[in-house]
Amino acid sequence: MTLDQRKSAARRLVEARRVVVKVGSALLVDADKGRLNRQWLASLAADVARLRARGQDVILVSSGAIALGRRHLKLEPGRLKLEESQAAAAVGQIRLAHAYKELLDEHGITVAQILLTLDDTEQRRRYLNARGTLNTLLALGAVPVINENDTVATAEIRYGDNDRLAARVAQMVAADCLVLLSDIDGLYTANPHEDEHAEFVARVLDISPEIEAMAGGSSSDVGTGGMQTKIAAAKIAVGAGCHLCIARGAVEQPLKRIEDGARCTWFVPTATPVALRKQWIAGTLKPAGALSIDLGAVRALYDGKSLLPAGVTRATGRFERGDTVSILGPDGVEVARGICAYSDADTARIMGRQSADIERLLGFRGRDEIVHRDDLVILKGP
Ligand code: GLU
Repeated sequence: MTLDQRKSAARRLVEARRVVVKVGSALLVDADKGRLNRQWLASLAADVARLRARGQDVILVSSGAIALGRRHLKLEPGRLKLEESQAAAAVGQIRLAHAYKELLDEHGITVAQILLTLDDTEQRRRYLNARGTLNTLLALGAVPVINENDTVATAEIRYGDNDRLAARVAQMVAADCLVLLSDIDGLYTANPHEDEHAEFVARVLDISPEIEAMAGGSSSDVGTGGMQTKIAAAKIAVGAGCHLCIARGAVEQPLKRIEDGARCTWFVPTATPVALRKQWIAGTLKPAGALSIDLGAVRALYDGKSLLPAGVTRATGRFERGDTVSILGPDGVEVARGICAYSDADTARIMGRQSADIERLLGFRGRDEIVHRDDLVILKGP
């Protein structure tokens, strides 16, 4: 690829609405001294500030807690016992979060710490909660800094690597670009440290078995993620319509370097996150229930608007917040399908009423829309 081609590939980062950046331990923590690499982190903060100034949402998924904490606790080099890594994470995470806060404060950016476990992304209810919190933070202009909750995660319930965690987060918030900042500049046909014929792969359109076979073990001593976890992350991200970039992180302002045409590997999805989400909704085999709506609401949906409680006349079936429901016109024909923001019981209490009354009727302030237009697919046109 020429410089121009690389710059043009990087438009995906420049034009993304929502960007997730994964920061590996090896970048943040000095391997010899075990200290936080503040100067590098300050340059990443400048990168983040630039993206925020362009109006992009940014989420950081940062490793480094265990690497920082183990040094501070003077734990012996080598593999840690589970309790030791949990203790190290507890000590390291607070230092890590503090550093992000301090350095992003300088750019007037609010940092929010979120610690996730595997359950938070794999269990529907917790997934919806975590997603809600992230979306709210982004809407308020904060930059979430996420890590795995290593102090409570045991071997069985652990991601263990932040590559896949970052991909799950990207999927959760429908990000359009995920950058994995790594100690290597991208994917090679073989391990470049061992094979002089290894060739660089600039773009992956299909994660074929050949591509998976290219991923050897990790070459880094500090983090846990090797190329295999990056490919696994790429599968998740691409499947969610998110572009993924593996790039060298150990440079000043690594995101700016990508935009300026630094070499990196791009994994390219075939559809956008919204299109995929809509496909998935339309493909739900058995909606959990149905909402009957009036003619005014049918027209609003055709105009591309969301479904408000005022337009709903009846709720049938048993469903929870987050379940897919059929949306039926006054003649009983299914006009649309969507994800309902309320359970069947709560829907019955707010239907026919104004959104402003939701809090009074339910005792909590939920979404104004019963089905948001991003969560809705029209099945039958006007
Ligand atoms: N969550 C771990 C930490 O903060 C790192 C996981 C990884 O290296 O990907 O230390």
